[in-house]
Amino acid sequence: MKIEATVKQIRALLQLAELNEGVDKLSLEAYHRGREAVQRGLPRLLLERYQSLVAAGRTPAVAAIERGACSGCHVRLPTMLEHQAGRSLAVYTCPHCRRMVYARELIREGSHLEEAKSSARAAPASVGRRS
Ligand SMILES: [Zn+2]
Repeated sequence: MKIEATVKQIRALLQLAELNEGVDKLSLEAYHRGREAVQRGLPRLLLERYQSLVAAGRTPAVAAIERGACSGCHVRLPTMLEHQAGRSLAVYTCPHCRRMVYARELIREGSHLEEAKSSARAAPASVGRRS
């Protein structure tokens, strides 16, 4: 399964995962404030997927693809999935642990895909309004 996501959205998911991991260290207020800010930038589909993984105890719910394997469960991903993930901005589902996996190189600073994607996404129907 594939859910299209922008670089920003994948980063937001990672931030959310970080917040969840650090929940013991943060004050409740800081946690909620951070979580709300991050969730505002995420489409419902991604958010729901994320939350169902967390509810199932699959944390972190978002895992990078490392040398062809899911960094969440360390099981090798199908070559097809690895290739697709490396080429399109999206989060995929690890067939073993169901975590959301993504290709790390796609969300690096200055990724050429980021620019192409954000200009393609500048359509008025997008979620939320930024001024
Ligand atoms: Zn996995």
